[in-house]
Amino acid sequence: MAFQFKLSAPIFGGNELIYTQEAISSGQLATSGSFIDKFERKLGRKLKTHQAVALNSGTSSLHLALVLLGVKAGDEVICQSFTFCASANPIIYLGATPIFVDSEKETWNMSPELLEDAIMHRIAHGKKPKAIIVVHLFGMPAKMQEIMEIAGRYNIPVLEDAAEAVGSTVNDRFCGTMGDIGVYSFNGNKIITSGGGGALIANDSSLVEKARYLSTQAREDLPYYQHLEIGYNYKMNNLAAAVGLAQLEQLDQWIDRRREVNAIYRELLGRIPGIVFQDEPEGVTSNYWLTTILIDDKVTGFTNDNLRVALMKNGIETRFLWKPLHMQPVFRNVQFFGGDISKSLFQKGICLPSSADLTYEDQEKIVGIVIKELAKTF
Ligand SMILES: *Cc1c(COP(=O)(O)O)cnc(C)c1O
Repeated sequence: MAFQFKLSAPIFGGNELIYTQEAISSGQLATSGSFIDKFERKLGRKLKTHQAVALNSGTSSLHLALVLLGVKAGDEVICQSFTFCASANPIIYLGATPIFVDSEKETWNMSPELLEDAIMHRIAHGKKPKAIIVVHLFGMPAKMQEIMEIAGRYNIPVLEDAAEAVGSTVNDRFCGTMGDIGVYSFNGNKIITSGGGGALIANDSSLVEKARYLSTQAREDLPYYQHLEIGYNYKMNNLAAAVGLAQLEQLDQWIDRRREVNAIYRELLGRIPGIVFQDEPEGVTSNYWLTTILIDDKVTGFTNDNLRVALMKNGIETRFLWKPLHMQPVFRNVQFFGGDISKSLFQKGICLPSSADLTYEDQEKIVGIVIKELAKTF
């Protein structure tokens, strides 16, 4: 179905056509070229001090990050349960075992308390986790200070899945730069897109160099093809980087717009009993990639699914929040530390259209349908 208002539509309002034309004219379409270099440098500069390697997806970036952290078959890796499957799938690719941890109520991301419970439990069973994957969902940063302190105490590296949180900050530090390795996605509906793509960033330049080497089939710098290790074909191509660079130039402007879209939804919906927004804790800035609300159907008289259907009939796309991984059939045998927080977020939540080009009138129209649903129940 074609939606009039999509959940998160890409906008190509900058140098996308000029750069892609330049990439094509120069004959550089593959995995080396000037746009890859420019994209990596600009991303690194944006994140201050950190260095970036551009890869072909967020998922491959997560996979490579786990390889760099030394995760091997039989190891255990702790992962936030409330997330997209791509956060955890690379653990399985490596023959390692995921351990899922529930969310906390404020940011909806990994609970530091439950993280520590999980670590202590696994250590008591002789299985010290090899890494921790924390996710910043919908652009909202997780409780990084607490998580880094716990991880540091047990000396376990932290991988930040910042696929949805490009440009979000905690005390002026960017999501993806607080852990040992950070990963971004530039897939089609993320806040900036390269068609498909990702990036791996780290403060430790040897990790970034290793990622660069492994992502190009671990090819030695020799006149013939020689390999000492098994590599991957995970590098971003130059055509994608041309689009990505043009998008990156517009990132700040779109974060401002998405934050404004969020503020307008709050203004129009915030006073309705039974509708709850996700708030930023002190010192935290979300890029508000998606505006999300929780609906308490006992108060509103309609569920998130009633609202989804009503909006769909009017050409408006929404989406439920991520179904927690510990509830996914494919992960039914995975150990889980937690209770009902992420389950309840899944049951009550819905993501509203959040594209950066929504006008005030568009949002009024969307909210009008919410209000009409509400009117039905009285
Ligand atoms: C999109 C996303 C990914 C995967 O990124 P791709 O570029 O689609 O492979 C990983 N984690 C989260 C939380 C995501 O939203």
